[in-house]
Amino acid sequence: MKGKKALVLGAGLAGLSAAHRLLEKGFEVEVVEANSFVGGLAATIKEGPYYMDFGPHPFYTEKEDIQELFKELIADDLLSFERRCLLYFNDRFVNYPLNIRTALFEMGLTTSIVSGLSFAKASTKKFFRKPEIKNFEDWARAGFGNHLYKIFFKPYTEKFWGVKCSELDAFWANQRVAKVNLIKTLKSIFSKPKKGEIASQIERSNLLLFYPRKGIGMLAERIAERVQKRGGKIYLNSKVSKVKKTKNGFSVECVSGGKTKTFAASYLFSSLPVPLFAKMLFPKPPKDILLSASKLRYRSLVLLYIASTKQDIMQVPYIYFMNRSFHRLTETNKWSQELSPADENMLSVEFSCFEGDATWNKSKEQLFEQAIAELEKDGFLKKSEVTNYFLLKAPHVYPVYLTDYREHFSKVMNHLKEIDNIYFIGRTGQFNYLDMDQVMKQSFIAVDQLAANAIR
Ligand SMILES: Cc1cc2nc3c(=O)[nH]c(=O)nc-3n(C[C@H](O)[C@H](O)[C@H](O)COP(=O)(O)OP(=O)(O)OC[C@H]3O[C@@H](n4cnc5c(N)ncnc54)[C@H](O)[C@@H]3O)c2cc1C
Repeated sequence: MKGKKALVLGAGLAGLSAAHRLLEKGFEVEVVEANSFVGGLAATIKEGPYYMDFGPHPFYTEKEDIQELFKELIADDLLSFERRCLLYFNDRFVNYPLNIRTALFEMGLTTSIVSGLSFAKASTKKFFRKPEIKNFEDWARAGFGNHLYKIFFKPYTEKFWGVKCSELDAFWANQRVAKVNLIKTLKSIFSKPKKGEIASQIERSNLLLFYPRKGIGMLAERIAERVQKRGGKIYLNSKVSKVKKTKNGFSVECVSGGKTKTFAASYLFSSLPVPLFAKMLFPKPPKDILLSASKLRYRSLVLLYIASTKQDIMQVPYIYFMNRSFHRLTETNKWSQELSPADENMLSVEFSCFEGDATWNKSKEQLFEQAIAELEKDGFLKKSEVTNYFLLKAPHVYPVYLTDYREHFSKVMNHLKEIDNIYFIGRTGQFNYLDMDQVMKQSFIAVDQLAANAIR
């Protein structure tokens, strides 16, 4: 493959994994990245002695090759533990992700009885007539009953996604929330899962977790080191501004330090957000394609890291919240003791929002005052124990699966896939709610396909 040049857009895990595999297959590789660091959503930001991820990022996989690679890359810096995670609900802590067993046994007597009856009613109804599932609301009501929908699914989901449950596609739920049916549920309450069953997205939450001692960013950094050792070039602070299809491949313009640099390549791998890519493409896609691209929305994330002298802040590494201004708290010392100085600990406080909205625009100080008031009230942390705090922001974090997203997404992708020698990879680049191991695997598969076609 000598002389065949591939350009990778974005140095997140998808882009770096593609670059790594392309080099193994003999391509010449360049990677361009807008940030000053590699890793994208799986980066670790260093501020003096503090190491901060974009939210909790344990690594788990049922893919043996990816597991092997992860262990080889992280080597002696690998920590492992079991998932322990709770939801703060009705003034009590219940197991999370929520399943019907939790609803029946952990949410308090009244909630358990009413939820149980409502679940049984929904299951009986389903038995006689298959419900029509048009959106997430239908899915949750049919699967869990009206009561659980009202007290949990509706408030939690609408706060997290910033849209109504009736506007969300049920596909996301199928991926992320345990499916339930009465018989299976009763069986699952009283029996253990069968050995060797393939892990669904939700069952993946039972896999053993791995974590590098200095933050998940070590994974991307080590892949990047390998890419560079093999002769691949990574250009940081290089923001793609134009992608042109040329006669022999692609010409990509990047803005770096106020200057424009042009890269030429035969093959293009893009992990950039789909709407952004469509907007930067020349020849310009037709208006209706651009309109569809603009309908694909990503939920954003604002993260406040609060360093303090308090140890053992929570009973588990992370807890989800329904009626606080944040949706999740993570205690970093429960992952690794090396993310902050020896006598300190950090709490990451996550706020989901849309880029440019009121939460996104809040200053570090405003968010800190808001969060610490709630944390003090709940007894997690006192202001006097705080030693430092930091703010991280990420704009393209969660693809929002609105009920019409499928139509818009396929319209855009059908247009983009007409272009030869271009591959869309990763979570952001495929508008797909994927985990780290999945984006790595998919990037490898995309490169293997290209290599196989190039040999033919
Ligand atoms: C809060 C949170 C928790 C998570 N927890 C887990 C977990 O526990 N386990 C797990 O396996 N996964 C987890 N994930 C998912 C994981 O982070 C992603 O699957 C993975 O990082 C996606 O990688 P990517 O390369 O596809 O996308 P990204 O990381 O988004 O990479 C895209 C890259 O493109 C760059 N880019 C964008 N625009 C431009 C431009 N114009 N020019 C140049 N570069 C550009 C970006 O800066 C970025 O580096 C979590 C994600 C989040 C947000």
